[in-house]
Amino acid sequence: MSELVSPCCGAEYSDDESLVSVCCTAEPKGHTDLCSKCLEHTDFFAYTCNNCNDWFEEPEEDYEYNERMKESIAEDRMDEARDMGEL
Ligand SMILES: [Zn+2]
Ligand SMILES: [Zn+2]
Repeated sequence: MSELVSPCCGAEYSDDESLVSVCCTAEPKGHTDLCSKCLEHTDFFAYTCNNCNDWFEEPEEDYEYNERMKESIAEDRMDEARDMGEL
């Protein structure tokens, strides 16, 4: 069984917060996709990461998060190797 985690930290998150807009972190206006602050159409974050308190739209499967982390570590190593080669 995989678990859902926050995409930023792979940590636990809470989903009991109300929605906030991507643009202004304000509430949606009624049942529309309008931001109550700037009245523009926008996306809304529904979750907060328990680790860093960042908002995000969708949680991620823990194995997806781990895969992504592994890839970015591998990329960092390749970048390092490339930098060494150029010296
Ligand atoms: Zn986080
Ligand atoms: Zn807004």
